[in-house]
Amino acid sequence: MRLASVTVGGVRRGGVVDGESIALLSCMVDDVVRGAPVETAEVLPLSEVRLESPLHRFNRDVLCTGWNYWDHFEESKGKREGQEVERPLRPTFFTKGPDTVIGPSDDIAYDPGLSQKWDYEAEIAMVIGRDGRSIPEEKALDHVFGFLVANDVSQRDLQRAHGGQWLKGKSLDATMPLGPWLTTIDSVDDLAGMRVQCEVNGVLLQDATSAQMAFSFAQIIAELSHGMTLRAGDVILTGTPSGVGNAREPQLFLRDGDVVVTRVSGLGELRNTVTLTDLGAR
Ligand code: MG
Repeated sequence: MRLASVTVGGVRRGGVVDGESIALLSCMVDDVVRGAPVETAEVLPLSEVRLESPLHRFNRDVLCTGWNYWDHFEESKGKREGQEVERPLRPTFFTKGPDTVIGPSDDIAYDPGLSQKWDYEAEIAMVIGRDGRSIPEEKALDHVFGFLVANDVSQRDLQRAHGGQWLKGKSLDATMPLGPWLTTIDSVDDLAGMRVQCEVNGVLLQDATSAQMAFSFAQIIAELSHGMTLRAGDVILTGTPSGVGNAREPQLFLRDGDVVVTRVSGLGELRNTVTLTDLGAR
């Protein structure tokens, strides 16, 4: 099942996408993730609606995994400016603010007064569907509601300017496309065979599969939930593969007007334009 979010007649509602149509729900996708029944009504052609981020009600920051593809970890060696570390034995975690979230075709906010190093990071996002703490790896997937495509757009200079942390540099408003719909885990054929791609202006810059992840979806949940409750509705990004702009030679950063396509096989595609936006740079 593919769950999308739309606003019809001024009211935001969830919907079930089937081919080229969407059957509207009486509730939001956020409610379905937290257990509300799926009762569909009016059916509309997909071409008549504008898809929004499937999720709008966040329990907390978006939970994120860093360095989760070894090729990305290796390509960034020597480019972390004082953050050099050995290959981690456990996943690296950080968070980003929920005000980053935008829809699958919304503009990515770009304010060069805040940063000169806007980078792209194609990722698979997981959504938790069942609360749990210290979830064992073998039961971890029972806690997954489904998956989405995300782009963890980052400002590399802001990461460095504030002590080498990752919150600033990952949390500017309206910079993280999410969608195009939430695909339930039972509709994903091969968890290890999802192809993750990012194109900028038609040039393929990232191309990997989930089989290349350093830590699997189940391992991420087991480690993150160790002593820390995960709740239905929590969103967890699972890391980006190699090919990010910061690690390229020469480096490649996003600019006003760039078209970013983020694609995961089986989960859909995001198409967002980087657009000059006043985010309040001083
Ligand atoms: Mg990332």
